[in-house]
Amino acid sequence: MTTFEDLDLSNPLRNSILDLGFEHPTPIQEEAFPVVRSGKDIVGIAQTGTGKTFAYVLPILRDLKFSKQLNPRVLILVPTRELVIQVVDEIEKLAKYMTLRVLGVYGGVNLNRHKQAVAEGCDIIVATPGRLYDLALSRVLKLKSIQKLVIDEVDVMLDLGFRFQLLNIFDLLPERRQNIMFSATMTEDVEALIEDFFTAPRKIAIAVSGTPLDNIEQTTYDVPNFYTKMNLLNFLLFDKSEYEKVLIFAPNKRNADRIFNLLEEEFPGQNCVIHSNKTQNYRMKSIENFNEGKHRILIATDVIARGLDLQEISHVINFNPTQYPENYMHRIGRTGRAEHKGKSILLVTEREKEAKQRIEELMNYEIPLVTIPEPVEISSQLTEEERPREDKSQSNNRTSQEYVPGPAFHEKKEKNKKVNLGGSYRREIAKKYKKPKTRGDKNYNKRNKRK
Ligand code: AMP
Repeated sequence: MTTFEDLDLSNPLRNSILDLGFEHPTPIQEEAFPVVRSGKDIVGIAQTGTGKTFAYVLPILRDLKFSKQLNPRVLILVPTRELVIQVVDEIEKLAKYMTLRVLGVYGGVNLNRHKQAVAEGCDIIVATPGRLYDLALSRVLKLKSIQKLVIDEVDVMLDLGFRFQLLNIFDLLPERRQNIMFSATMTEDVEALIEDFFTAPRKIAIAVSGTPLDNIEQTTYDVPNFYTKMNLLNFLLFDKSEYEKVLIFAPNKRNADRIFNLLEEEFPGQNCVIHSNKTQNYRMKSIENFNEGKHRILIATDVIARGLDLQEISHVINFNPTQYPENYMHRIGRTGRAEHKGKSILLVTEREKEAKQRIEELMNYEIPLVTIPEPVEISSQLTEEERPREDKSQSNNRTSQEYVPGPAFHEKKEKNKKVNLGGSYRREIAKKYKKPKTRGDKNYNKRNKRK
C-alpha cells in the first residue's frame, strides 16, 4: 500500500500530514498527485468523502514556491460558500508549516471587506464564481498571474446555473494555465465544458464506491412511456411493507417535480423531492424527513443526491437509465448497505434501451427483465417530450430541462476544434471497466484500475 512517503512530499507537508494523523493517501490522491504536478489538464471523477480536496491541494502546495507578490497564482472555484470555508480550512491545515496566504471569498459578505483582503495579497484564492467575478471586475483582484485553475464540484456548479459565470471568468484568465477539475458525476454539461476548454485532459476516476453489486437484487421493466411508468410506480409503491424506504432517481428537475406531484396525488404526505432548484433549507428538511421515516419516498436528481447520507434504503428506483453508465452504479449503490440486501428497479422505454445496454456492458451483467404486472394500465398519453416532433414544434414553451447543446457562442481555440466522436469519456470508461468481471467482486475495480 502506498504511503505518503512514496509521494515525494516536501518536509513541511510531511509534517502537517503527520499532525493530521493520515497514514495513506486515498486512491484519488495517489492518482492525482503526479498528474497535477505534471502540469497537464486533469479531470477527476470523485465524490465527497474520497479525499478529493487534498487530491488537488497536496500537489499544488508541493510545487508552490514562496512569493511576496500580491496577485494570486492559484484560483479554486467552488459552488457554495460552505465549500469555500471548508477548502480554505483544509488548505490551512496542510500549509501549517509553510508561509502561504490563502483567501476565501463568497457572496453575501460586504464586497469592500473582500476588496480589502484581496489588496493585502494572497497566493491562493478560493471563491464562489459570482464573488470572484465581481472582485475581478472591480480591478482590485488581478488574475493575470493565475497558473492553476481548480474547479471543484463542477457538476453542482453547472447544475446551479453557473456556466456563464465560469465562461466569464475563463475570459479573464491567462491562456497558459493548468486546468484542474473535480466532479462527483459525469454529466453532459460537464463533458461539454471539458470539450470546450480543456487541452487533452487526463481523466482519472476512482473505483465505484458503495455496495458490491451482488448485494443488490436488480430488476428492469420495459415500459412504453412516462405515464405508464407512473402507473407502474403507483402499483408497486402501494405495497408499503415491501417498499419501505424508496429513493427514486429522476432524469432532471422538471421530471422530479412532475413525479413528486403525481405521487402526492396517490400517496399524499409520503413523498419528498430534492434538486438544485430547491432551497438549502427545503433540501435539508426533505432529507431529515426521509431519514427519520416521516416520508417513505424521496425523489432526487443525480447531482444533488451525491454526497447525501441516506440510510437503509430498501429500493432504488431508476425512473430512467442514466446517460453515463457508471452513474447507475453509484445510484444503486445507495441500497443494500450494511448486511441488508437491497433492491433496485430500472424503468426503460424503447428510446432508452441503448443507455440500458451500456449499463449492462459496464457491469457485464444482464439485468433480469420482469413483465409489467397485469393490473397496471398501459397509458397512451404522452408527455410533451414524448410526442412526435411536429406536435412539439407548435409549442413555443421549452419544457425539457435536459441539456440541449446549442451552438457555441464563443470561438473555440483552434486546437479544440475537434470532432466529437461520440463521447471520448464513455470510451475511456468502457476501456477501463471492460472485461472480465465477476458481478459483485468488490475488488474488480481496484484490479482494473491498476492495469
Ligand atoms: P473530501 O473528499 O475532500 O471531502 O475529504 C473527506 C475527508 O477525508 C476530509 O475530512 C479529509 O480531512 C479526510 N482525508 C483526506 N485525505 C485523507 C487521507 N489520506 N487519510 C485520511 N483522511 C483523509
